[in-house]
Amino acid sequence: MTLFAHLAGRSPWLYRINAGSCNGCDVELATTACIPRYDVERLGCRYCGSPRHADIVLVTGPLTIRVKDKALHLWAEVPDPKVTVAVGVCPISGGVFRESYAIAGPLDRFIPVDVNVPGCPPRPQAIIEGIAKAIEIWAQRL
Ligand code: SF4
Repeated sequence: MTLFAHLAGRSPWLYRINAGSCNGCDVELATTACIPRYDVERLGCRYCGSPRHADIVLVTGPLTIRVKDKALHLWAEVPDPKVTVAVGVCPISGGVFRESYAIAGPLDRFIPVDVNVPGCPPRPQAIIEGIAKAIEIWAQRL
């Protein structure tokens, strides 16, 4: 068995970056970590505490100027082949903060985004669907 084939059989780990979110999306993300009905462990993945251990990055918030450098630094710490998921309309388009003087985003202005999960905030079911798509992309990149 090759190393890549071996890795393909393992579970992806998730890491969350708050890029200036109002916390609405983060509350919905929390349900995918602690409410059994929406728990992403059903998809065979789990949240981790370090970007260096992660495979899939979930980004919330419109990427404010204040957090931009730190958020992009954290994203860069995730090893390739990573998959990036924009959670909520804020990282996708700026949402209600679009064209604000305090916003550097949208997110894809700075990094490649693989999956968009629209909503303000998106429902847990939509987040799970987005993570399922991210897992498929991640497995293809191994
Ligand atoms: S998409 Fe809506 S809920 Fe999510 S961070 Fe933006 S304003 Fe808040």
